[in-house]
Amino acid sequence: TAARTLFTFDDSYARDVPGMSLPWQAVEVATPELLVLNDALAAELGVDAAGLREPAGVALLVGNGLPDGVTTRALVYSGHQWGVYRPRLGDGRALLLGEVVDTRGRRRDLHLKGTGATPFSRGFDGMAAVGPMLREYLMGEAMQAMGVPTTRALAVVATGTRVRRERSLPGAVLCRVAASHLRIGTFEYAAASGDREMLRALADHVIARHHPAAADAPQPYLELFRRVVDAQAALVARWMLVGFVHGVMSTDNTTVSGETIDYGPCAFMDAVDPATVFSSLDDTGRYAYGRQPSILRWNLARFGETLAPLLGPDAADALDGVLAGYPAAYERYWATGMAAKLGIAAPDVALGTDLMDLLHAEHVDFTTFFRALAAGTARDLVLDRARFDAWAARREALLPADRAGVAAAMDRVNPLYIPRNDRVDAALAAAEAGDQAPFERLLDAVSRPFEQRPGLDDLVGPAPTGSIPHVTYCGT
Ligand code: AMP
Ligand code: MG
Ligand code: MG
Repeated sequence: TAARTLFTFDDSYARDVPGMSLPWQAVEVATPELLVLNDALAAELGVDAAGLREPAGVALLVGNGLPDGVTTRALVYSGHQWGVYRPRLGDGRALLLGEVVDTRGRRRDLHLKGTGATPFSRGFDGMAAVGPMLREYLMGEAMQAMGVPTTRALAVVATGTRVRRERSLPGAVLCRVAASHLRIGTFEYAAASGDREMLRALADHVIARHHPAAADAPQPYLELFRRVVDAQAALVARWMLVGFVHGVMSTDNTTVSGETIDYGPCAFMDAVDPATVFSSLDDTGRYAYGRQPSILRWNLARFGETLAPLLGPDAADALDGVLAGYPAAYERYWATGMAAKLGIAAPDVALGTDLMDLLHAEHVDFTTFFRALAAGTARDLVLDRARFDAWAARREALLPADRAGVAAAMDRVNPLYIPRNDRVDAALAAAEAGDQAPFERLLDAVSRPFEQRPGLDDLVGPAPTGSIPHVTYCGT
């Protein structure tokens, strides 16, 4: 029986860059059950959500019953994890279903996570669990709603089978939508292969797909580097401005599109502390909140090295020159975003960094502070009132002449509802036990994070002091 065509898939990546993906089939799922479907995203993709809810649609969302001509593929990549080079990573538990051109003409990948072992699984099971996949769904929607470039989830489907972790967990497949799944690690693989034409084909594909203006530059590959540096500088600045801790900033988790990818051990910081980490694996704090901008610079340096074979004899100097512009670019993005958070008329780096030092010294909840500042109650959050007053006077002097709209404008960029760790954990525990209502409620809150609504007060603010710190585990 021919499944109704839900998507028209393309496979430009496999066509343009042969040798960096492998046809591979998803495991059969006997009793898939759709847990959550992203209607807004389905509409953006131009796909009929009702069709996705039918058996053929749900089957497609776990990579089964593929329409004729559709081939799922595992993508290969390398990467530096925890600073150590891994020559062969790749889609160990995921498959590219295909590319779709959305209703606004943007090419987007549909990628299925939790579809079983592949040649890149390195002994792991290739599976994903319901809780972590719902978590990825929630985090992506929260980031999207806050205006942070991100991959998103179209759906989470329960497989009806169990996954073995620290304990046995219900299995799931997540359908991820991304501008692409091309990473710094993808370039590291191509560069290490020694096949310069494959590397060139990859770079040309990425230029055409993500940074088309680079094609017209005198040195397109150097310009590609500049544009990826800029996109990632902008992205990490946004993370810092919402208190997001990614948790595993390996080069294979750094996209060349500038989207956030891989919501594994990520979490939002409560009380300001640059040393904040959540991952059980990060005992040295390599990927701590405050280190994210410098880790990104390190990752971008690895990216630059992969492009050297495509550049002339002065490649190293040219790449260094571009990278030298990174700190200023990052600071500009950060200071501009911080100015909006503070309601001041123009960026002021020192005002922002002095505030972060103050909030750190006073253990103030990051997200709470900015709403309180708009409401005129921020002073109550600190003990050292003199220090606060001195800082507040500096800010006061930088406010626009017309103060009327300042507080409302601040509330449009400072979220009230974020995926607080304890609230997320509680929602996922309930979902795993069969009650998805808390998850739906939290999803609704973080999907409209700026607009205060009645009945959601329990989702505002940090967990009570004395509660157990949140820890995330890898291999989820
Ligand atoms: P991550 O830490 O999520 O970026 O994953 C790093 C690498 O481990 C990637 O190649 C993943 O595909 C692979 N991986 C993670 N979890 C699993 C799993 N359960 N089974 C197979 N491969 C996995
Ligand atoms: Mg990853
Ligand atoms: Mg992951």
